[in-house]
Parts: sequence; structure tokens; C-alpha cells
Amino acid sequence: MNDCLFCKIMAGEIPSKKVYEDEFTYAFHDIAPQAPVHVLVISKKHTPDVAHNADLSDQELAACLRTCAKVAEMLGIAESGYRIVNNCGEDACQTVKHMHYHVLGGEKLAAQMA
Ligand code: AMP
Ligand code: ZN
Repeated sequence: MNDCLFCKIMAGEIPSKKVYEDEFTYAFHDIAPQAPVHVLVISKKHTPDVAHNADLSDQELAACLRTCAKVAEMLGIAESGYRIVNNCGEDACQTVKHMHYHVLGGEKLAAQMA
């Protein structure tokens, strides 16, 4: 996807602060952090959102959650706890149409989800 921000980040065309990368996923710090730790985990294969999950293999889909957990370990929030958020579509205010998970932590997060 030529005009996809996150595809460009993955390709190195737009700079990012990389946290972790493997065969299926890429993780980097959010540019506008909502918590002391705010990392985005994206699938290397472009798919617009979780609703379009048939574009990804089970392995590619599962890899995203494994990377969320890995990133939490790497950044020292696995024990204290963290939240994984996925915005899917308009009502969820998804702004970047490349499937991604937010990993948020490093402080006590608000109890409500939205
Ligand atoms: P969402 O609203 O779920 O689509 O999340 C998109 C996220 O991408 C937001 O939290 C933005 O702050 C983040 N974002 C936008 N542009 C960049 C960028 N160039 N580098 C890192 N994060 C970005
Ligand atoms: Zn993309």
C-alpha cells in the first residue's frame, strides 16, 4: 500500500522509534503517547483493520498479540500490567487504516475503557 503511513514506517520511508521486529510484526513508539509506555504493534502484511482478518493467516494474526506481550516484557510493564487496545473502524475513531494494537502502561490506567 503506497499511501499507507504504517507501511511507510515499516519500509523506513518515515522514521520511527523501533522497539521490536520479527518476521510478522513491527513495534514502535507512538508519536503522541497516551501513557508513559505507548507502543504500536502492526502486522507487516497490510490489512486495514481487524474486521479484515481473512487477509492474514492465523499465524500472522496471532503474532501481533505475541508481540504485544513481548514488548510489554521488554519495556518492563509485564508485571505491573498494561492494556492492549485495537480501534476498528469509524465508530472506534481508527485514524490509521493499517491494523495495529496499542500497548499502554507504565502507570495506573483509567478504569473505564473509553
Ligand atoms: P488509531 O487512532 O487507533 O488509528 O491510532 C493511530 C495512532 O498512530 C495514534 O495513536 C497516533 O498517535 C499514532 N501515529 C500517527 N502517526 C504516527 C507516526 N508517524 N509515528 C508513530 N505513531 C504515529
Ligand atoms: Zn499499511
